[in-house]
Amino acid sequence: MLVTEITAPPAHHRTRLLNLRAKQCRFILSDDLRDAVCCGAPTQEGSSWCAWHRKLVYIPSRLERYRQLTDGSEAASSTRRKS
Ligand SMILES: [Zn+2]
Repeated sequence: MLVTEITAPPAHHRTRLLNLRAKQCRFILSDDLRDAVCCGAPTQEGSSWCAWHRKLVYIPSRLERYRQLTDGSEAASSTRRKS
């Protein structure tokens, strides 16, 4: 697994989509969308997902990861030159 420091939210948070309140994780766990059950775990301010599901749904782009690794300093020199 990619996620190491955050554990999956406990099942007792699970809430039907129709009963979901603000600041509850909106990650849908069930297959049946008509009676969808969401994660329901508490979310951080401004996020639709709990920390666990945010990690699952958010995948940084290659370029973003590259910038994090190289601090962006070598991004310009990676373009090919015709000589
Ligand atoms: Zn969640």
